Order: sequence, then structure tokens, then C-alpha cells
Amino acid sequence: MASHHGAPRTELSRRGFIVGAAAAGIAVTGGQLLSARPASAAVAGYNLPFTNLAEAGTVVPRYDSSYPYGANGGDVGDGFHNGIDFNATGTSGTVMGRRVHPVRPGTVVLHSSSASLGTYLRVRHSDGHESLYAHLGSVYISSGSVSSGSVLGTMGASGDVTGPHLHLAFYTGSGWTSYDPWPYLNGAPYANGSSGGGGGWILPKTATEQDGIPGPIYWQRFQNFLRGYGYTGPVDGVPGINTYKAFQLWLTGWGYGGPIDGVPGINTYKAQQRHAQTWGYGGPVDGVPGPNTYRAEARFINQDVYDRVA
Ligand SMILES: [Zn+2]
Repeated sequence: MASHHGAPRTELSRRGFIVGAAAAGIAVTGGQLLSARPASAAVAGYNLPFTNLAEAGTVVPRYDSSYPYGANGGDVGDGFHNGIDFNATGTSGTVMGRRVHPVRPGTVVLHSSSASLGTYLRVRHSDGHESLYAHLGSVYISSGSVSSGSVLGTMGASGDVTGPHLHLAFYTGSGWTSYDPWPYLNGAPYANGSSGGGGGWILPKTATEQDGIPGPIYWQRFQNFLRGYGYTGPVDGVPGINTYKAFQLWLTGWGYGGPIDGVPGINTYKAQQRHAQTWGYGGPVDGVPGPNTYRAEARFINQDVYDRVA
């Protein structure tokens, strides 16, 4: 139940431990050199292997930065991790069924299964490189040409896993010489062109827009936004004094004139309600936020621009 982000997670997607050498980006066994993960945007022409569905309760894939390419131990044997993992995390927990798309157009050249990979597909691209999608649930396309919008199948938990996730691997050809997919996908859009990664992981949309109840995802998104106001703590969905300090600092732009003490009171919330008015809140500015205040704030914080955790 541990989480390396401190974020709520109902299930670990895979077992194993990150190796210090891999984390530090230095050479590891097998002659494969791990470079430090670039902060730059994705390579053009690649997309994340998912569609960004914003509806409440749908599954949102999140890159599991605890288990990067090269980590030791994991979902495909206990050696070198030759791919990257995406968790399937929905607002109601970890769920299967998320649609999987190819990261680039290509041709499905293999539909197979193994004890470690479970059900998997390989797609060959125009440069001869191949991408692999493992631990699938259903398979919808088992051969032939595919575009970025094609639905290869669904995320599942087949093979050697401890929970549902997608294992994505890149190979230099039809063999098993792998390379790190993440530099090609970090910052890439979703398969349907909406905003994608850019950091270690991707936040789900909060259902607070519908139910008016601020939960962990609402707060994760707020914390991510508040990084622009000096918040440097974890994006863990658990607001503490540092989250609220940044919150108050932000709200000085909305009429808050009290201390930046991280202890929100009526004047903090009045300022928030003034901000909420610009996102459809029609209630009183009384400093007592209710479901309609939170719904309006959720509309604000659900903008795609706050999907990425840098
Ligand atoms: Zn994996």
C-alpha cells in the first residue's frame, strides 16, 4: 500500500525495488546506459498510449515513476526492467479496462502471451522500431495497420503483475533489444491530442466537479497548481500547512489580506469564493465553502494544463 508519491493508491502495480544506479542515471549491468530523464518535451510524432477521458470515474493512466526503465525487479522477471509502467488509477480506485492506443502509427505484427508479459501486442513502426503493450485485458486488433487513434485493446492484469497496469516497451527492431520509452513520451499528448505528460505522472480529473466534495484528487490537482505559488511539498492530495500557505498566497490575488500562516479561516475562503465566482459559483461570499464553491473550483482545477505533475 506504500506510495512513492505519497498519493493514495489502492494497489501497487508491480513488485520490486528501484536500483540506486538506475535512479541516478548511471551505467548498469548489461551494457545499457541509462541517461537522466530529460525535462524537455516529447519527441514529435509520439503520443501517450491512452485517450484522455475526462469523465468522472474513468480510468486515468499514470506513469509509475517509481519503476522507470532499468529498475531492477519487476513485472517481467526480476532483472532489468525493459519498459515503463502506467498505472490504471480511477477516481474510485485502481480499475481495469482503459483503452490502449499505439504510441505511433504502425502495424500490429505480433499478438501473443507469456507467463511474464501476459497478453501482449507488438507494433512495428516505419523506422523499423517496435513498441510492445503487455498485461492487456482484451485485444481488439491483433494484426494489420493501426493509427494513433486505433484501440489496440484494454489495460488488464494478465501475466506477472500484482495489479492492473500497462507495461510499455520499445525495441530497436523485431528482437528484444530495448530502449527507454519515456524520453519519447514525457510531455506527449494523449492519443486523441489532448494534453499529456510532461512530468513523472499524470493526474486524473477530479469528480468534485460533479459531487462537490473535495477529495484527494481535487487536492492533488490543487497542490500541483499551487507549485506556481511556492508550494514545494508532495502532490499527495493531503493538504497541510504548506499547501494552505501557498493557497493563501495565491488568494492574495483575490482579495485575501490576512497572514500567510497556512491556517485558512473565513477570509481565506471568502477570497476563494470570489475566485470561484469566475468559474460559475453563484452563491454568497460568506467564507463558508460548500459543494457549489468546490464544484466551481473543480472546474478551474480540472483544466488540462494542471494534468501534469512536473
Ligand atoms: Zn513494466
